Amino acid sequence: MDWHIDTKCIQEGWKPGEGEPRVLPVYQSTTFKYSSAGTLGDLFDLKIGGDFYTRLSNPTTNAVENKIAALEGGIGALMTSAGQAASMLSVCNIARSGDHIISAVAIYGGTFNLFHKTLRELGIDVTFIQPGATDAEIEAAFRPNTKLLFGETLSNPSLQVLDIEQYARIAHAHGVPLIVDNTFPTPINCRPFEFGADIVVHSTSKYLDGHATALGGVIVDSGHFDWQAHASRYPGLTTPDETYHGIVYTEQFGKAAYITKCRTHLMRDMGVAPSPQNAFLLSQGMDTLHLRMERHCFNAQKVAEFLSQDERVTWVNYPGLPGDKNYELAQKYMPHGTCGVISFGVRGGREAASRFMESLKLAAIVIHVADLRTCVLHPASTTHRQLSDQQLSEAGVTPDLIRFSVGIEHIDDIIGDIRQALDTL
Ligand SMILES: *Cc1c(COP(=O)(O)O)cnc(C)c1O
Repeated sequence: MDWHIDTKCIQEGWKPGEGEPRVLPVYQSTTFKYSSAGTLGDLFDLKIGGDFYTRLSNPTTNAVENKIAALEGGIGALMTSAGQAASMLSVCNIARSGDHIISAVAIYGGTFNLFHKTLRELGIDVTFIQPGATDAEIEAAFRPNTKLLFGETLSNPSLQVLDIEQYARIAHAHGVPLIVDNTFPTPINCRPFEFGADIVVHSTSKYLDGHATALGGVIVDSGHFDWQAHASRYPGLTTPDETYHGIVYTEQFGKAAYITKCRTHLMRDMGVAPSPQNAFLLSQGMDTLHLRMERHCFNAQKVAEFLSQDERVTWVNYPGLPGDKNYELAQKYMPHGTCGVISFGVRGGREAASRFMESLKLAAIVIHVADLRTCVLHPASTTHRQLSDQQLSEAGVTPDLIRFSVGIEHIDDIIGDIRQALDTL
């Protein structure tokens, strides 16, 4: 039976057998006991499945991976130590030195740095695409060695909505998969596989955990992309892996070739594994994901409407506001709501924005977004403080930009806090 996503948040993942714990147990163990060297050898050779070392798999982590795969509608998932690791592995699983990738430019700053600096240093070139690019503009970026297209459903912090169907159509016409970072909407508000995306990644440190307790990331495989049909483009998946006695991932694992290789090859070699305790905390957080997202979206909509009616606020960026440049795309891909993050500007620029922030009493100034406590960040006086006004606007961050992450407290208290802070300007 196909449950509603609300039910899946609670019931998927850990499925206890007779007499087993009702709640997901934390298997806080690096290793697992076997009585025969032969069995262990078969595990090493991927002839049989099972846990033997927590860098590769762990029952607690596996249960949480299964829960996220169920929420996204994928066939398998791999958890990582942080969102950054998920983005890195998702690309390096199919692109190597000498290859090229294409990415939307409206992505998380950490992902931008990973692509723009680190991947280039590793020999993987990248072309960035502007929001609202035409088909022809995206197609012009393709090269014979292009391996994938990457974008963010709802970009952090600029809140651009990716036209997933457009990106998927163009990717598939060129025989490459579309990877989508779905961190901000979460599978509650958008499931990119339903619009043609092939791989989804998340920073689970945000809404999925929701309580700002544990860093984490995850890669989810839809199982839809036909690697064998483009065998020469993806030799890592379609030719023998000598480190596993010559297995060929597409032959041995079929639809699960990509996500299996990610674990058995890249996680084995790079070791960006999550701790079982963090996997447990993530699972606990996701039990209420559906409830929290509903409240985040309700509250953020009210805050956006309040801000857009105050004359001390010069502009508001929230895709749920009719008239917002992303409103139509948001209605198409996230009809039940986007997320709790809003950006806006106040009259008086950089200085007024600082004063506004420092006057907030409920909303805390933190380098984080997307958790249940309302928080706020002024990039121009914190993360981007070394930049001039001119450099800021080149980075798409205006001096007056305030990033406001609306939590799940009572809406009247959140708006009351904003009102009293605006009154100090
Ligand atoms: C935070 C974030 C990341 C990076 O995740 P970490 O868990 O901080 O490593 C990646 N993508 C998006 C959209 C994010 O918001």
